[in-house]
Amino acid sequence: MSLLTRLMSVAMICCLPALVWAGQPGITDTCPLLDVTDDSARHNLMNHVCYYSADPEEAAHQALSPEELPESLAWSPADGHDLVFSHTQSVYWLKLQLINSGNTRGLWYLKLDYPLLDEVTFWTYDSDGAIAKLATGDQYPFASRGIDYRYFLLPVTIGAGELREVTIRIRSSGALNVPLSLETPAEVIATSNHLTLTHGLFYGALAIFGAFNLLLFFSSGTVYYFYNAFYMAAMGLFLFAMGGFANQYFWPESAGFANTSIPLALALCALAMTLFGRSFLEVKPDTLANTTLKAQAWLCIVLLVLTFILPYNKTIILNTVLALSVIASLLVSAGIRWRQGYPPAIWYLLSWMVMLVGALIYALAAFGYLADFLARESLMQVTIGGQVILLNYAMVQRWRLLNQKLLDVEHKARTQLEFKVHERTSQLRNAMRELEQANRKLAALSLNDPLTGLYNRRHLDNILPELCAEARRTGQPLTLALIDADRFKAVNDTWGHGFGDTCLQLIADILTRHVKRPRDIAIRFGGEEFAVLLPGADSEGARKVCQAILDELRNTSLETPDRKTLTMTLSAGIAELASREDQQTLFRRADDALYRAKASGRDRVQIAEGEPIDWNIPSTQ
Ligand code: GH3
Ligand code: MG
Ligand code: MG
Repeated sequence: MSLLTRLMSVAMICCLPALVWAGQPGITDTCPLLDVTDDSARHNLMNHVCYYSADPEEAAHQALSPEELPESLAWSPADGHDLVFSHTQSVYWLKLQLINSGNTRGLWYLKLDYPLLDEVTFWTYDSDGAIAKLATGDQYPFASRGIDYRYFLLPVTIGAGELREVTIRIRSSGALNVPLSLETPAEVIATSNHLTLTHGLFYGALAIFGAFNLLLFFSSGTVYYFYNAFYMAAMGLFLFAMGGFANQYFWPESAGFANTSIPLALALCALAMTLFGRSFLEVKPDTLANTTLKAQAWLCIVLLVLTFILPYNKTIILNTVLALSVIASLLVSAGIRWRQGYPPAIWYLLSWMVMLVGALIYALAAFGYLADFLARESLMQVTIGGQVILLNYAMVQRWRLLNQKLLDVEHKARTQLEFKVHERTSQLRNAMRELEQANRKLAALSLNDPLTGLYNRRHLDNILPELCAEARRTGQPLTLALIDADRFKAVNDTWGHGFGDTCLQLIADILTRHVKRPRDIAIRFGGEEFAVLLPGADSEGARKVCQAILDELRNTSLETPDRKTLTMTLSAGIAELASREDQQTLFRRADDALYRAKASGRDRVQIAEGEPIDWNIPSTQ
């Protein structure tokens, strides 16, 4: 963990000088003896450690055991500081003298809390000069550590009153951190327990968030859920590798991969960050931000490949710089999107702020500017945990925004649809009303005679069967009178068709005046032929009506176009509907009566022969 943050902090707080011990004054030959039974002395272990950093050209750099070290080596005391070295090719030698002033033999563990060192060799000398050696590091298979633990643990057993000298040789590419402590077995177990709990919680939460996002991706098909899961997996892998867990559990046998895995996970993180950020922020196409993020995503892929080709100390720098530039681009893009009125961008920005503030605190603490306890793995876990929670909250906000947009669109569409339906309905209603009126007009036109305004033949044909059926049903009489103008041809021939039409209109007026009961109907069914339907009237009643019509016309004088006076007459034939008679027979009987009226001299009313049988009297069968 500290490797990344150190590199990040170098870039972020470049104004802060790295505390590099090499070359510092205060060189001494002796280191203060540490009494392992003195807990406070033990907790200030670094006051008892001396170190020497051997540059590549020195003999101490080539030496592979303490015996090969030059006699006159100028050891420096650590003076209570943690040993931190920036990128270097040096080999570091550390020396520590322990004494057990107690009465009993005891076991202590020298713990090196930095799992990424390439080569770490411990030598312990007892007072007889006998040597125990442990050669390990992440360039060796994991089993070389002796104890199955992600950190380096050197067991040191010291008898009562005995002296032990411990020499450590460290060689590692990249930045180097040597957090040493001397712990009793109980202390080792206790710290390990507590860390197991926090790690379990952290990685468990990360795995659940990742799996949840993956499920969201599969169920919704929204790609940024996948990128978020990818980011969490890459970040998890990176922390797992940095914490030494990956060496312990993923590739304990592939020692060479331990170094490669760090820049590899870092490049994956950078790629995931870019893809997620671009997709989540909905960075607009054809913008500089989009082009930059795209280019960075491709660069991540190139560096992923290069990680397998270039040496670790090159790829870790390249990938760190790339990760920092990706973060910078994402922060700028998020800021732009927020200003463009995209609310979830603020949560995204906030999540990165939490991450960066955490990293800054960690870096400051690691360099000794803040309390030591802040420079712990757990701080970064809290920071990244906070970032992950805020990122997921940002996604919830984005989801809410999308949902709101969707609801707005739906509401708008529904309102528009309702408006359109309403509009169309009223249009349809108007059209139907117009159609109805037109139909009524058409029906009226089709049932009326244009010259006289009386009903026409079609109406007679329609209504007669109905009236006949009704009369039969109710027992009420129904009478049909056919009325024909007498010698009308002569009128036409003498004064022309126009005058003939005027005469026909006069006859129609007279008919209308006399046929006045609501259900009586006057019809012009032929040229100068009229019919009168009188429901409820018998032939005698009909005769009276017809006679009144005939009388009125006879008594009406018409002025002809040649200023003469014309008197017209009518003949009428009446038939009353007989029982079981149909309309054709009724009509024929009325027509026969009319014919007889004509034949017997015209200007008269003739009632049809074969008077109707009263259908109230039962038939004699
Ligand atoms: P009758 O007394 O035997 O009925 O003699 P009529 O001349 O009235 O009978 P006829 O059937 O021979 O002549 C009917 C005439 O009615 C013929 C035609 O000139 C005239 N007519 C028929 N339809 C119209 C019309 O729409 N307008 C006018 N002006 N005359 C019509
Ligand atoms: Mg006629
Ligand atoms: Mg006639």
